Amino acid sequence: MTTHRATAVAVLGSTNMDLVAFTTTAPRRGETVTGREFRTLPGGKGANQAIAAARAGGAVAMIGAVGDDAFAPRLRAALAEAGVATDGLRTVPGASGIAHIVVDDEGGNSIVVVPGANGTVAGLAEGDEARIAAADALLMQLELPLEGVLAGAHAARAHGVRTVLTPAPARPLPDELLSLIDLLVPNEHEAAALTGTSEPLAAARALLELVPEVVITLGAAGSLHASRTAEPVSVPSVPVRAVDSTAAGDTFVGALAVAAGEGRPMPEAMAWASAAAALSVSRPGASASMPNRAEIDALHR
Ligand code: ADP
Repeated sequence: MTTHRATAVAVLGSTNMDLVAFTTTAPRRGETVTGREFRTLPGGKGANQAIAAARAGGAVAMIGAVGDDAFAPRLRAALAEAGVATDGLRTVPGASGIAHIVVDDEGGNSIVVVPGANGTVAGLAEGDEARIAAADALLMQLELPLEGVLAGAHAARAHGVRTVLTPAPARPLPDELLSLIDLLVPNEHEAAALTGTSEPLAAARALLELVPEVVITLGAAGSLHASRTAEPVSVPSVPVRAVDSTAAGDTFVGALAVAAGEGRPMPEAMAWASAAAALSVSRPGASASMPNRAEIDALHR
């Protein structure tokens, strides 16, 4: 019998508590409204991608920081429950990162992110380089200081570890970072912000001037793969009744990294990741909605 080693994934990114107030109408400036419900939900793009990859079957190490406040133990526990190793998640004095979110009855939202502890990750700490070196892929986003992301990308490159960047929240990317990225995974808005074109194929072609490989996610329209060595390929989404699309992209990237690490060709890995993302969209919540490997396999067939 052949034994398969789980894909090893390191995630260098944010861990936030999402503070979500549900209200009929969002308050205007100076106004107070009475909301209907309040929830605290573990989130942050880094932690979301880590949980998605672990549920998809990866052996995942989280690198980042939480504060020494009341949210920190719950944030750590949410990762640990999913099987993510949290010894690379340092505790720093002060507040954990939070996202303050107001959701109105039309599903619209407005969000204030306060980086807190995430803002202290301006470089690697002891043990982080070894965590990165041991991985098949390093997943990064842009919710940490750029210096921290750069340090991780340099370490990955030095150890021949594949680097995957989700360029969110959208911001201009310095050449130094782009030169260290193997795979860029923007959604259609981030791709448009980076290239100035909202046409996915044209955006993909423009991005290939910057990085060797791109996957643009297109919501219900699926995803598009482009690389310097193969023709572009479109992969459809898996049709589901959409309930909550929070963290669809993070679920997609986490599952994609696991499948790619198993040596599956990119279009096949994207189809499997699309099944994972579709399941997360069909259920409420961010990390709470992320599917496990058996669920993904059952939908993907
Ligand atoms: P983000 O969450 O970063 O904005 P997208 O909205 O592009 O990212 O979604 C990422 C992936 O999730 C898509 O490529 C698709 O596979 C899947 N997905 C998103 N929305 C839906 C949907 N309504 N139905 C099915 N799959 C979806």
